[in-house]
Amino acid sequence: MHTLLQLGWFFKKYWKRYTLGIALLLAVDLLMLLPPGLIGQTVDQIRNGTLSRTELTERILLLLGLGIGLYGMRIAWRFLLFGGSLMLEQRLRERFFAHLTKMTPSFYQTRRTGDLMAVATNDIPAIEQTAGMGVLTLVDSLFMSVLTLGIMVYTIDWKLTVAALVPLPFLAWSSAYYGRLLHDRFLLAQEAFGVMNDHVQQSISGVRVIRAFVQEKHDVESFRKVSEHTLERNVSVAKVDALFEPTIGVIIGFSFLIGLGYGTFLVFSSQISLGDLVAFNLYLGMLIWPMLAFGWLMNILQRGSASAKRLQELLEVEPDVQEQNDAVREVPAGSIVINELTFTYPGASHPALQKISFACQKGETIGVVGRTGSGKSTLCRVLLHQYPVPAERVFLAGTPLEQISLGTLREKIAYVPQEHLLFSRSIGENVAFGRPGATQEEIWQALALAEMSHDLERFPEGLETMVGEKGVMLSGGQKQRISIARALLLDAEILILDDSLSAVDARTEEKIIQHLRKERQGKTTIITAHRLSAVQHAQQILVLDQGEIVERGTHDELMAANGWYAEQFRRQQMERQVAGAERGLET
Ligand code: ATP
Ligand code: MG
Repeated sequence: MHTLLQLGWFFKKYWKRYTLGIALLLAVDLLMLLPPGLIGQTVDQIRNGTLSRTELTERILLLLGLGIGLYGMRIAWRFLLFGGSLMLEQRLRERFFAHLTKMTPSFYQTRRTGDLMAVATNDIPAIEQTAGMGVLTLVDSLFMSVLTLGIMVYTIDWKLTVAALVPLPFLAWSSAYYGRLLHDRFLLAQEAFGVMNDHVQQSISGVRVIRAFVQEKHDVESFRKVSEHTLERNVSVAKVDALFEPTIGVIIGFSFLIGLGYGTFLVFSSQISLGDLVAFNLYLGMLIWPMLAFGWLMNILQRGSASAKRLQELLEVEPDVQEQNDAVREVPAGSIVINELTFTYPGASHPALQKISFACQKGETIGVVGRTGSGKSTLCRVLLHQYPVPAERVFLAGTPLEQISLGTLREKIAYVPQEHLLFSRSIGENVAFGRPGATQEEIWQALALAEMSHDLERFPEGLETMVGEKGVMLSGGQKQRISIARALLLDAEILILDDSLSAVDARTEEKIIQHLRKERQGKTTIITAHRLSAVQHAQQILVLDQGEIVERGTHDELMAANGWYAEQFRRQQMERQVAGAERGLET
C-alpha cells in the first residue's frame, strides 16, 4: 500500500489515464454480472415452458452484444493500465540512470555493478508490476468479489453463498503462500543463474590465462558444480509450481461440490429454482479469479515495496562532492596552488596524501614521480575534485577548488586516467568523445600528436574502425595513445596525464613528449610517470613517497641532490643501455 502511495506523483500525473482505465474496469465488472442472471432466468423459463422464440433470440443477441462490448472494454483497460505502468518503468529507469551518472567514485567503490544492475532489471519491473497488476487486482478483486457476493446473497440464497464460500479463503491463502514460496525459490534460482553467467563470462574472457596455466579441466569441473547447483535450484522452483495448480484445483473443486450438493438440496426443497442454481454456479466461477488475485496482490505489493525501498535508498544517496549554490563558473586560465593538503579517501584509515604543497604557474609542466602506491594518481583525482577535498587547500587560478562549479572544472581540465577505458564505438567517436563536433582533421591532428596516426593508417577502416568490447583488438599501447588523443583534442588549459606513457616504447614516448612540449606551450600540463624520462623536461618535478613530497626541483637539481630520483634515473638509463646493447647484439 505504502508503495502505491509513494508512486502518487505518477498517478497524479497520469490521472486521466488511470481514471478512465479504472472506470472501464469497473464497468466491465458490472456488466459481467448480467449474463449469469440472464442464463438462470432462461433456464427457469425453459423448465416452466414460458420461453418464447422472440425472447430467446433477444436474449442471445443481448449476450452476444455484451460479449463484444466486454471484449473491447477489456482491451481498452488493459492498454490504459498496463501501458501506464510500462511508462512508469521507463520513467524510473531514466531517473535511476541519471542519478547514477551524478554519483562520484566513492559511491561505486562500495557497491557492486551487478547489484546496481539488479535494481534496474529486477526491482524496477517489480515496481512496475505494483503499478500495473497491483492497481488492477486491488480495484478488480475487491470490487468484483464484493459485487458478486452481494448479488449471490441478494438474488439467490445467503446460506448457500456462505456454505460455498467456506473453501475460498484457503484459495487466497494458498495462492499467497505458494506465491511467496515460488518467489523466494525463484530468487535463489536467479542468483544461481547469475553466478553461472559470471563463471561463463570470466572463463571466456580469461580463456588465455586458463590455457596458459593448464586449468581447463579444473575450470570445466568447477563449471559443472555451478551448473548442477543451478539445476537444483530450478528444480525446487518447478516443485512448487507443480504443487500450485493441483492444490488450487482441489480447493475450487470443494467449493463447487458444496455449491452443487447443498444447492441441489435447496432446489429439491424448493427454496431456490433450478435457474438460481445454474446462475449461482456461474457466479461462483466468477469469484475464483478475485480470490486468486487477492493472494497475488499480497505478494505483488510485498515485492513492490521491498523493491521500491531498495530503489529509494539508492536515489536518496547524495553525491559526496557537492556543487555550492554560488559556484564560480568562470575561472581565468592559470595557476595551480596546493597548500598543506592532507587527503584521506572516504572510509580509509590512513591519508593517501600528506601536507602536499606546491605552486605551478600557468604554462608550466609538472612531473610527479614516486614508487607505486605513493599517491600520484590520488593527486590527479584530487585536482579533478572526484572526492571531497578539505576547504581552502587547493586553488585553481586563485579560486578554491570547492567553489568552482564541477562543469567548469571539467571543462578546464583534460584527463587521461591511468586505467584507460575506450567505449565500444569507432576510434573516431572515441577520440571525439569530449567534443562530438570535432572535424575529421582535428581528430587526425590529435591522433598524430599522440603518435597514433601511423597505426591508424594501417587499419583499413581508419577512424571508422570499431573498438571491440573493452577494445580487445587494440594493443595496450594503442589504447593508451587513443586515450591521449581524446584528451589532447579538448585542448584544455590543464592537461593531466596519469602514467599515460607506460605502455609505449621509449622512442614513441620521446616523440609524444616533443609534441606535447610544442603543442602545450603556455598551458599547464601535469605528467605522472614511472619512467623518469617522461618528466625530465618538466619545470618542476615532485617525488612522492607514501603521500608526501620527499624531493622536488628540476631534473638537474634533483640529479645534483643525489636522492631517490638521481638513483632511479641512473638505473633506468643503465637499463636502457643494456636493452639497447642486447638489441644491437641480436642484429
Ligand atoms: P601507481 O604508480 O601504482 O599508479 P600511485 O602513486 O598512483 O600508484 P595511488 O593510486 O595514488 O598510487 O594510491 C595511493 C594510496 O592510496 C595507495 O596506498 C592506495 O592503496 C590508496 N588508494 C588508492 N585509491 C584508493 C581508493 N579509491 N580508496 C582508498 N584508498 C585508495
Ligand atoms: Mg597511479
